[in-house]
Amino acid sequence: MTQQRTLVGGSGQPPVGLATSAGHVLQLLRSNAGGYSRAELLDITGMARSTLYERLDALFAAGLVYESSPLHAQRGRPPRALRFDDRNKLVLGIEIGHTHAGIHLLSLGRDIVASARLPIDIRQPQEAVAGQVIGESLRLLDGRQPVGAGVGLPAPVDPLHRLGLERTVLAHWNLQNLQEVMESRLDCPVLLENDARSMAVGEVREPLESLVAVKVSTGVGSGIIVGGALVRGAHGAAGDIGHVRIPEAAGRRCRCGRDGCLAAVASGRALLADPKLSSYGSLRQLVDACGSDPAVRAAVAEAGQLLGRTLAATVGTLNPGRIAVGGLVGVLPDFLLACRRQILDDAFEPSLVDLEIVPADSRTATAIGLCRLVEESLYAPERVEQLLAQRAG
Ligand SMILES: [Zn+2]
Repeated sequence: MTQQRTLVGGSGQPPVGLATSAGHVLQLLRSNAGGYSRAELLDITGMARSTLYERLDALFAAGLVYESSPLHAQRGRPPRALRFDDRNKLVLGIEIGHTHAGIHLLSLGRDIVASARLPIDIRQPQEAVAGQVIGESLRLLDGRQPVGAGVGLPAPVDPLHRLGLERTVLAHWNLQNLQEVMESRLDCPVLLENDARSMAVGEVREPLESLVAVKVSTGVGSGIIVGGALVRGAHGAAGDIGHVRIPEAAGRRCRCGRDGCLAAVASGRALLADPKLSSYGSLRQLVDACGSDPAVRAAVAEAGQLLGRTLAATVGTLNPGRIAVGGLVGVLPDFLLACRRQILDDAFEPSLVDLEIVPADSRTATAIGLCRLVEESLYAPERVEQLLAQRAG
């Protein structure tokens, strides 16, 4: 499952010329919420009637397609639409942060059915944290069986597990093992993804959108969508902007072991380590004091400004239409304002035309992004083909 290459959103157009296998017929039906009639499918795909009907029979038998009510109110026998059967299919979206895990149960229509939040300590052994998260997930499921689960992690996630975690907060974790344990306990496929990248996917509004989502909580990370496609990079480290060296952080030690990283001055961890803010015991307390403590406010604004400097380079490189800033620190108005000002100051004007710099939908974007990624992966044409072959065999 982790080897799937995911194209988020797609073009919104049916994949003409591809719809020959059952998997591709399903992809076509998934691309249109209203579904297609048999006649439309024959027309779009150019398939022989007998071949198409054979593919549809297999999809019906696997519970992947259903026949909905007539397309139009008309006399005679109106055509019935065939649709992707997303009814009663649930996905778990699990966001693992440094100090908390958010667990959401979602429908494939992206409605949040149930949620839970639990304190964790990511420095603990993987088994302990995974045990807590799995226990809470099972409680939330209350006997219901999800079709899949997505887990957002605060570290670069290499889909092929080639990238080591040595320099990250998950240095003591083994993602391959995490995936296996979770799949076994939750009894469904599990997809692991970087948290900021999942958030970016959840922020997509238009099929061909280009956007950058930035998460600033304990750490700093970003997710990049270009022309509707999620950018993971060669080894899953795309968007990991927290460890870009900036002059303002010179001499400041980062958690990664280097000096001068952006995260050493513009992250929740950096704010908590600021001697002027030493009275705050947790990031939540510090963030809650932003409206009342001028020292917090000034430090938060400075952090936002420094992030803006780094993001100006991203803006110049990618020319996104929107930057969505989320996370406990990222959504603070003082942070976002300073960040926006710095981007507008530093980036070249052509890359700023119509650029929106807005707070991310922090509460649900990551869970929705994970749900979307799980769906794309579970129902990718080649995976559907495999499923149908197993059923037939
Ligand atoms: Zn670093």
